[in-house]
This record gives sequence, C-alpha cells and structure tokens, in this order.
Amino acid sequence: MYDVIIIGSGPAGLTAAIYASRAKLKTLILEANVLGGNTAIIDQIDNYPGFPFGVSGTELIDLFYRQAERFGVELRMEEVTAIQAIPEGHKVVTNAGEYMTRSVIVAMGAKRRQLQVDGEQEFLGRGVSYCATCDGAFFSAVPVAVVGGGDSAVKEALFLSDIASRVYLIHRREEFRANRTAVDKLLAKDNIELKLNRIITGIEGDALMQRLRLKDVVTGEEEILETEGLFVSIGLVSAADFLSSLLDTDDGYIVTDETMCTSVPGIFAAGDIRAKHARQISTAVGDGAMAGITVTEYLKE
Ligand SMILES: Cc1cc2nc3c(=O)[nH]c(=O)nc-3n(C[C@H](O)[C@H](O)[C@H](O)COP(=O)(O)OP(=O)(O)OC[C@H]3O[C@@H](n4cnc5c(N)ncnc54)[C@H](O)[C@@H]3O)c2cc1C
Repeated sequence: MYDVIIIGSGPAGLTAAIYASRAKLKTLILEANVLGGNTAIIDQIDNYPGFPFGVSGTELIDLFYRQAERFGVELRMEEVTAIQAIPEGHKVVTNAGEYMTRSVIVAMGAKRRQLQVDGEQEFLGRGVSYCATCDGAFFSAVPVAVVGGGDSAVKEALFLSDIASRVYLIHRREEFRANRTAVDKLLAKDNIELKLNRIITGIEGDALMQRLRLKDVVTGEEEILETEGLFVSIGLVSAADFLSSLLDTDDGYIVTDETMCTSVPGIFAAGDIRAKHARQISTAVGDGAMAGITVTEYLKE
C-alpha cells in the first residue's frame, strides 16, 4: 500500500514527488514513456528561474529526479490504464500490474494537437514548434508562420510579431474563433499577414525548415510560403482519456480547485493536464508543489 501514487514524471509529477517523499509519504511515480515528460525533449529552456544562461530539458529533469530520489521516491516505467476506488483508497492499474494507494496525483501532461502533414515530424525542433513562448526567441527578425484560428493561435501570432520580421497566420476558415479584441489587435499589426481559407499540405526544407506548401480550400490554388518557422497552435489534447468518466473535466482537462483537489476525494491533479490558463514548466512546478502539500495534509486528516 502506497501513501501516494503519482502518474507522470514531468515537472509537475517530480515536484509533487519531492514534496510527498520529503514529508515521508511512501511515494511511487509511474511513467509511461520517458522520464521528464515534455520537458525532457526541450533543447534549451530560457525561462525557468535559476539558470541565467538557460538549461537543457534533460539536465533540468536530471536535477529534479535526483532531488526526489534523495528522499526515497520509487519510479516504475509503466503506463497507467485505470484508477478504481477501493475501501482503503484507490487501485491503480497499469500495463504491467496493479498498485494499491491511499491517494493519487495525476500529472499526465497534455499533448499538442498535431497537423499531421508531411514534414511535421521531420522538422520538429528545426523550424516546427508548438510553443511560441518557448521557442519564439529563436526566430528573431526572420519570417514565421502560425497555424490555427482560436485564441491561442492569435496570441501566438501577436507574441511572435514583436520578435519575427513577419508573421503569416494561416487559418482554414474565413473567420477566427478567437475573441474579437484579440483579433482587432491582430488586424492592427503591420507585420502580420492573414492567410485565410488555407491549409498546409507540406513542410519542406533541408537541414532546417525553409518553406510551407499551402492550398486555398475555396479555389484549390496552391502556393509556396518561404518561412523558417511554423508554430502549430490548433489546440491541445489532454492525456486524460481514461479519467474523463471518473473526474470532472473541461474540454478534456481535469478541473481542480487551487489546492489541486479534483472532484474525487483522494485524487489530485497537477500540471498541464489541469484546466488552466498557462502551461509552462514553472506553472507545472507550482502545481506539483501544491499537490504535494495538499496530499500530505489530506493523508494526515
Ligand atoms: C517543444 C516544447 C517546448 C517547450 N518549451 C518550454 C519552455 O521553453 N519553457 C517552459 O516553461 N515550458 C516549455 N514547454 C512546456 C512544458 O514542457 C510543459 O508545460 C511541462 O512539461 C508540463 O509538465 P507536466 O509535468 O504537467 O507534464 P509533462 O511534462 O507532459 O509530463 C507528463 C508525463 O506523464 C506521462 N504520462 C502520460 N500518460 C501517462 C499514463 N497513462 N501512465 C503513466 N505516465 C503517463 C507522460 O509520458 C509524461 O512523461 C514546452 C513544451 C514543448 C512540447
């Protein structure tokens, strides 16, 4: 019987693990893929405090994990497939077995929705990005494109317009879903060019991305757009599929209060999987700390 099982070893899960294991809770982390989650794949992180010259994702995760390990946390590389209620707490089912626990912290993150066009995987990190806050600075004074029609795409385009020389905003429809105020700001920018009724049919380049292939969905006309960056902003996909029948969710994300409590007592959620405004390492770390503190208080009661 564990005191707490943490699902996911990204910044939220590892921070929760530091707090829980330091409070002497018997803590197990279950991780389906790679230690460190989305953060482990980032080459250079420039906005996480404490690293004035930046830090790589693997280095940051190594530091987080060593700190959790020091307090005795256990890690198993297994994918969680279900959580079931039992009289003593919860049963966590994985692809390799079952574990009993008094509480659970869900820190499974979110996946960026992909365009699924040729070149997207090939140029990931070499022109293709899913986060302007994270990677925008690499595109200073060069043209970039953003694809999407919602609030986040418009926000990404506005953010990039202060960094890049020109921003092409590609949207498959005539109208944006984004709020009117944001769209008005967008239209007032000289260096943002709208490419409406267009879809991307291919991403091309050599070592780095160099151009996009676009198709007009009304006329069928094709065009080539010379740009070194593409920010895909067509939404996120919560990793919470199997939890949506158990916990309250909003658009696939788990709803919590500010202490990370979900709709089910004894189950907490932290990080990108939570319904919230900003999905960053520092906000995931904040959530993880709060979840670790709340779970400790919950188990004491
Ligand atoms: C390309 C890219 C660049 C980024 N750059 C920055 C940046 O510069 N600065 C910044 O602050 N943020 C950046 N971000 C955002 C940042 O990575 C996330 O906000 C952060 O990783 C969220 O942490 P998390 O712990 O909530 O989730 P994640 O890091 O996504 O970790 C979730 C973990 O849960 C695991 N998991 C999922 N389902 C299961 C399951 N069923 N069973 C077991 N394990 C499971 C996953 O495998 C994963 O390891 C970037 C994101 C991307 C994609």
